[in-house]
Amino acid sequence: MHDIETVQQLMQRHPDKLIAKAKQCDVYVTTHFGVFEVVSPTIDRDTGERTKYYVRQYTTGSEKVSHWRCGCKWCSYHPTKTCAHKLAVQLWLAEAGNQYMSAWAGKEDAKRQHRRTVRSDDVYLTYRNRPEPAPVSNPIAAD
Ligand SMILES: [Zn+2]
Repeated sequence: MHDIETVQQLMQRHPDKLIAKAKQCDVYVTTHFGVFEVVSPTIDRDTGERTKYYVRQYTTGSEKVSHWRCGCKWCSYHPTKTCAHKLAVQLWLAEAGNQYMSAWAGKEDAKRQHRRTVRSDDVYLTYRNRPEPAPVSNPIAAD
């Protein structure tokens, strides 16, 4: 049983795990348009510091497809696939746009959400608007 699971894991992407990893990353804009710095929670053995990667989007010509590049080792072997760092940037952008983002391995899974869908390298991302924030009471009034 265990072997079958391993084979399935190799064959299928697990966007939920990638998203969980992506949420642990910090994302920063850089002075280069479309280039983001992603700080991973993984400690670099040589420097003893959190590992940084540069992630950039490159032209797609379509709103429904996006392609990204990341400088991580995994991506050097799988340049057309999504890594946690690429997803970290897209999560950050979704949050900045006040949207929730979910990731799916298959087109059919994404379709079932009936949401705006973008194929990002080999995963499908769906977006939905966050509810309007509730009005907050004036914190200064407590004084
Ligand atoms: Zn990466």
